[in-house]
Amino acid sequence: MQIQRNPTRSVKIGSIFLGSEHPIAVQSMTATHTQDIDATVALVNDLQAAGADVVRIAVDSKKDAEALAEIRKQTTANLSVDLQENYRLAELVAPHVDKVRYNPGHLYHHEPTKPWQEKVTYLAGVAKDNDVALRVGVNCGSVDPAKKEKYDPADSITPMLESAWEHCDLLDGLDFTRYCVSLKDSDPRKVVEVNKRFAERRPDVPLHLGVTEAGLPPDGVIKTRIAFEQLIGRGIGDTIRVSLTVPNNRKKEEIEAGRKIIADIAAGRVRSVVDYGLQTLNIIACPSCSRVENEAFIELAQQVKEMTRYAEKHAITIAVMGCRVNGPGETDDADLGLWCGPNFVNLKRGGIELGAYPYDAILGKLKSELDALVAARIVS
Ligand code: SF4
Repeated sequence: MQIQRNPTRSVKIGSIFLGSEHPIAVQSMTATHTQDIDATVALVNDLQAAGADVVRIAVDSKKDAEALAEIRKQTTANLSVDLQENYRLAELVAPHVDKVRYNPGHLYHHEPTKPWQEKVTYLAGVAKDNDVALRVGVNCGSVDPAKKEKYDPADSITPMLESAWEHCDLLDGLDFTRYCVSLKDSDPRKVVEVNKRFAERRPDVPLHLGVTEAGLPPDGVIKTRIAFEQLIGRGIGDTIRVSLTVPNNRKKEEIEAGRKIIADIAAGRVRSVVDYGLQTLNIIACPSCSRVENEAFIELAQQVKEMTRYAEKHAITIAVMGCRVNGPGETDDADLGLWCGPNFVNLKRGGIELGAYPYDAILGKLKSELDALVAARIVS
């Protein structure tokens, strides 16, 4: 059975194209330190050999950008790069990659008084000059604050959509159409809703699908499958990433899982349980990347999963994040949140900071908080 796709435009990313005329592309991301050139090249090549159509790398500094230039020389993989706060790094990285991803919610960090429109105009110019594509990557944990302020805090979807639509309008107005959009959330139901609503208004724009911080396998694969079955089954989605919290030597599982989900949808083997996570303990965890602050992060995520099993019948969300870049913001909506620093793990209850604890003490602290939360839920 052929997957019927929305008629999206073609966007060239190195040796492949995104869009409905082309197969759905499968992506992954490195979690090595970008300046560790040998390790990063080895992982990029492993992912390419496993079938990755595009491999993404995080770049936060000029030194990372210099390392990227060397990585480019040592691989033929299609490379994408993730810009975070400093959008100006684009001109340093674009000569070495095929796609640059920027997050509209991070543009205000650098040169905060400059209008975002000027920054996007600059990014489109850099992309044109270097023959690369852009991704407008909107993420639930870092939505443009100006958009969030306009809406009820309970509505997390509309600010994401408004942000994405206005960036599309600006890029189109600049006559730059070589871009795709992503709208990611850790809740698969929200991923479905936000992407459906986006595609209703902009059915021509290729969509990159993903459930952010899907977490450890198999749960991370299940959450992602739920969203992808609902979307790809309706013709929405031109490229995908399955974000899994696994060590680098297992990163190719992201590619294998993505390919299997696409093959199952094409064959009509769909089995979504759409209320997954509604009534049960939900552990969300980032997949880690070069910014991860302590290698113990992956093991900690696994230990959190094991330790919290006793509470699995309770509708409680625990977020485990690998660094200070996205950790503080993306733990805000969880009942309990952990984000890792080099030597300490920060613990939060809702949006409230409870303190920072050594790696060997954090599980005990988390358990005390979880016990209290479970007891409160039982009483209420
Ligand atoms: Fe990378 Fe930090 Fe995001 Fe984890 S939270 S994927 S370490 S940027």
